[in-house]
Amino acid sequence: MILEKFSLGVGDRFGHEGCAQLQSLQLAANKGIIISPVWNKSYREHSIIGTAPSDGRAAADDAVKRCKWTHPYYVDADHIGLKTVDLFIESSDFYTLDVADFIGSPADTSSIDAFVRSVRNFSGRLEIPGVQAALNVTEEDIRAVGRKYLLAVQEAGKVYRHIVSIKGAENFVTEVSTDEALESQSSTELFFILAAIAQEGIPIQTIAPKFTGKFLKGIDYVGPVEQFAREFEDDLCVISFAIKTFHLPANLKLSIHSGSDKFSLYPTIHRIIGAHNAGLHLKTAGTTWLEELIGLAMSGGKGFAISQAIYADAYKRIDELCKPYESVIDIDRRRLPEPKIVNGWNKDEFVAALRHDQSSLKYNLHFRQLLHLAYKLAAEMGDDFTHALDRSREYVGRNVTENLFQRHIKPLFLGL
Ligand SMILES: [Zn+2]
Repeated sequence: MILEKFSLGVGDRFGHEGCAQLQSLQLAANKGIIISPVWNKSYREHSIIGTAPSDGRAAADDAVKRCKWTHPYYVDADHIGLKTVDLFIESSDFYTLDVADFIGSPADTSSIDAFVRSVRNFSGRLEIPGVQAALNVTEEDIRAVGRKYLLAVQEAGKVYRHIVSIKGAENFVTEVSTDEALESQSSTELFFILAAIAQEGIPIQTIAPKFTGKFLKGIDYVGPVEQFAREFEDDLCVISFAIKTFHLPANLKLSIHSGSDKFSLYPTIHRIIGAHNAGLHLKTAGTTWLEELIGLAMSGGKGFAISQAIYADAYKRIDELCKPYESVIDIDRRRLPEPKIVNGWNKDEFVAALRHDQSSLKYNLHFRQLLHLAYKLAAEMGDDFTHALDRSREYVGRNVTENLFQRHIKPLFLGL
């Protein structure tokens, strides 16, 4: 299975918005840019909501059929490891092997020695076409990368071979992610990580490194955009050099685990991938749930009451909701309006506080982050929530499609 040049993470917490999301991709296709949708839902999300990977597959197949999507699509087992992979074997054809937990634990000395020997010829002055600063690499640097990452790559190899043994090598796409590591990876590290991945025999098609800056859930990038641009461009150059040098799949591309809504990076990413004729995979499905809340609020009446009730409940249960996401949120509790204030808002005020429009003075990124975590509460409402979605379908669907197309696809893939 060969992943296309452009692909985008889709899917939603409750499996209701597949069609609305595909419509945004159809708008891009109408403009000549085909973007493959990749349904992704992590093990964490499944366990919080109480869904199973087969539900994700069913939602994807159903949306593709109903919406008559004729291009390829995939179902991603997002951030899995040996412990969780088996749950995703039947339903997925895209595997994001997350080995961040193993980063920093050294592999056995003999494999580190063997690794250093195998890439020793790259020590000294390493010139990678396009990378602005020539890299000076010592054997000690290579050993340090080996010590930090080799065990993680070996672990990815185990997971990869396990999937091959059941599904066959031709029947899925493999991504390796290190984005949930504690530290970002430099371009030099990426180069030697790719060497190790090639030696491990993993035909990776996407790799998700950790970049400098904060990729918080549901809000914009926090950090220096220029530095990101340099890292991103260097990584692209490292990848195309590594493809030739280590005989990795020719379509290997960067995967950005964006945590959604990294609007300030989109124009930069668009410019750089255009200049390099590079592909891109972007994971960004999480905020569809917020578009559902916005749509419910816009529909007024009972729908709006549900949105307000979810906020009131989230405000009360903030500690519990934040816990699984501590490293990827930054909520200033003093900036959260009290539920009695929110209950006095009209629907426009609610929508303005929640919608990710940074030009609006009413936008409140703390309010937005808290509601982003609150999908668990909607799941607890069961049918009351999903029936409300169905009743507000017109508002919800339009918001989901417009958000994905106008705020994400247009600036990132179409450069508009
Ligand atoms: Zn990730």
